[in-house]
Amino acid sequence: MADGPPFGRFGGITAPQFLRQFPHPGRAPGLVRQPRTLRRAVQAGFLLLCGWIGVEFWLFMRWGGSLGRAAYAPHPPGAEGFLPISALLSLKLWALTGVISDIHPAGLFILLAVLGLGLLLKKAFCSWLCPIGTLGEALARLGRQLWGRTFRPGPWLDYPFRSLKYLILLFFLWAIGGMDGPALAGFLRSPYNVVADLKLYLFFVHISALALGVVLALAVLSTLVEGFWCRYLCPYGALLGALSFLSPVRITRTRASCIDCGKCTKACPAGIQVHQAGRVWSDECTACYRCVAACPVKATLEMRAPGGRAVPGRVFAVLVVGLFVAVTGAAMLTGHWRTSVSREEYFQRMQELDRW
Ligand code: SF4
Ligand code: SF4
Repeated sequence: MADGPPFGRFGGITAPQFLRQFPHPGRAPGLVRQPRTLRRAVQAGFLLLCGWIGVEFWLFMRWGGSLGRAAYAPHPPGAEGFLPISALLSLKLWALTGVISDIHPAGLFILLAVLGLGLLLKKAFCSWLCPIGTLGEALARLGRQLWGRTFRPGPWLDYPFRSLKYLILLFFLWAIGGMDGPALAGFLRSPYNVVADLKLYLFFVHISALALGVVLALAVLSTLVEGFWCRYLCPYGALLGALSFLSPVRITRTRASCIDCGKCTKACPAGIQVHQAGRVWSDECTACYRCVAACPVKATLEMRAPGGRAVPGRVFAVLVVGLFVAVTGAAMLTGHWRTSVSREEYFQRMQELDRW
């Protein structure tokens, strides 16, 4: 049960009547959409960055595939962000030995940036930066146009499904947990790890019928259930969800001014009962600000830091982008961004990719 005043009265009319007349009491209309517009701009920027990395990777592979006849394009470090398992192994090696692996160093620092975001700003990476999250949102919008709505399985199915991503994460942590320093260093320097991003690229370029079927099935499911991949299967999301319990910022509802309209809950893509919460603790909260934008009462639903200080969407956007740029920028400035794998080694490995 909500503990705010149930449909209080405003000058002799009920709250729903009041809201029909004054949909956003106390808020300038322009402000209402600001977090969403900002978030979409950040998402679009990051998607463009990923697209650019994709083009650079294509040029790099074209050079290797042409036996060096096409113009040389260097290996783009940003592509290593798509190797989270390799980055986790590098992180463990760093923690155990103090050595930063120079095979996919950018992947390690991208992982550190993402983990830092999870620790400080909840699962902001998922709803502000991750291209898969952005794609999931676009598919959900398509689903609303196709089917008129999206669906949420009942708790009896939703909870077991949500635990799947934690099981996948536990499996990876278990597999990595048994490796000591020499085993980690050996794997990270192995040809298999050196060409991991090249193999991933080829997996999608020459995708098998089975894999394509799985990708299409996930896409269709994402039009039916918002964030299907993120909510049920993504181990990265599971890791961030666990870290987000430590995050100092949290969506917070002021019970005294809440009119129990339920718009926040309706807007929440994660299905969180925001209108019943004092502070949102859920591991599914991605700090997307959709509930904040939907709340019609000024200063009632906000992202708040310790001490009750509100964090407006524009400040949050600067923090998300700033933290990501700061960590990856530190890697560039300290010489931990570009791989040590030489052009000659890449050329040789590209000719024998089938072996790994
Ligand atoms: S609680 Fe608010 S910020 Fe968190 S996922 Fe739901 S709508 Fe987004
Ligand atoms: S949208 Fe705002 S006023 Fe409505 S229930 Fe949520 S917190 Fe309360």
